[in-house]
Amino acid sequence: MARVLVINAGSSSVKYYLYEMPQAQVLARGSVERIGEDQARLTHVFGQETFTNGVSAADVDEAVHLVLDTLVDGDRGVLEDIAEVSAVGHRVVHGGEEFTGSVIIDEHVIASVEKYADLAPLHNPPNLAGIRAVASRLPSVTQVACFDTAFHTTIPKVAYLYGLPYELYERYGIRRYGFHGISHRYVARRVAALMGRGKYDVNVITCHLGNGCSITAVKGGRSIDTSMGFTPLEGVPMGTRSGDLDPAILFYLADKGYDPQSLKTLCNKESGLLGISGLSNDIRNLLQLAAQGHERATLAIDVFCYRVRKYIGAYAAVLEPLDAIAFTGGIGENAVQLREQITRGMSQLGVQLDPAANARAVGEEARIEAPASSVKVCVVPTNEQLAIAKDTYELAARKHPAVSRG
Ligand code: ADP
Repeated sequence: MARVLVINAGSSSVKYYLYEMPQAQVLARGSVERIGEDQARLTHVFGQETFTNGVSAADVDEAVHLVLDTLVDGDRGVLEDIAEVSAVGHRVVHGGEEFTGSVIIDEHVIASVEKYADLAPLHNPPNLAGIRAVASRLPSVTQVACFDTAFHTTIPKVAYLYGLPYELYERYGIRRYGFHGISHRYVARRVAALMGRGKYDVNVITCHLGNGCSITAVKGGRSIDTSMGFTPLEGVPMGTRSGDLDPAILFYLADKGYDPQSLKTLCNKESGLLGISGLSNDIRNLLQLAAQGHERATLAIDVFCYRVRKYIGAYAAVLEPLDAIAFTGGIGENAVQLREQITRGMSQLGVQLDPAANARAVGEEARIEAPASSVKVCVVPTNEQLAIAKDTYELAARKHPAVSRG
């Protein structure tokens, strides 16, 4: 047995899960939100109890120390001593072309994560701050980096190159990297299991539809294309991100006086479901508003579903044969109506839902295709933290066989 701590450190929040491995039992979980604001908020769930409190956390370093303190707290801690943590796994957003899987963190890995901060300036620095905070408190603990880009490093050049001068790829690394890879890999493996197949024996389109959305073509268990690109802005419209655009729109707006910063804000924070509806970035709200007759709420939902359909169509064309489509993320796992709308009239691709099975599948693993559907349709709640815990446990056990013996 081993205790594995999973840390997902972002610029404004640190989320954590403490697992007993290999049983994958969650001993405690929680988050520090609103880091850097006047008052941050700690939420700590242990056993049946939830503790929340206002805390001071000026940065990721302070937030991680707070998490470690909470895990050994006399009243609500679950460990006697923080040294009981045998390994720590971190979600790291960008591993460039270098990291094709999870790795044990050493000086070289740290230097690389720092280097790729150029490609993910909002994400890699807080990820790195989380790694350094743990190292300062537990200098000898094994730390593992699990990259969001790693699963997509099998995408072939024909799919990752843009139609730009090749020198830009060579000089600046401008190419499709893809994100949400930890989720797409997890879901693809679960789909294989749900179909009774080996993990490299399935062709599936995985649709991760949450606040951020990405769609991946998985062939023989490996990513061969994905909708997010050089950054997470590409692909389907998301909560507040535009998704695919004609790049000339940006030149046109620049001529109208938009500067680069305002274009960034426009495309990342003011577009997508929020931008089209003018009402909300949240599908639950939009579904309610659409039901009350708000036309632009309906329009935002329709645009979203249409664009997801187009990606499914595109990826069906590069997967031969298409075995399955899988839905995950807050929308994919819960929004029955959207799954129906996205797949409606897809019988040409061999996709047909069972309406009753679709209606039942809310937040749980399920197969929702009709018996006549040649393509299986699966709902799979994503579990990135479990995927990180497993990779971390396996790598740590290989490094220190004693870890797996407890
Ligand atoms: P993130 O990408 O931030 O992890 P989530 O995966 O939690 O986000 O997805 C958030 C989206 O999921 C929101 O648009 C939200 O409305 C939608 N969602 C969550 N629960 C439901 C539900 N029960 N029905 C419909 N949509 C839901």
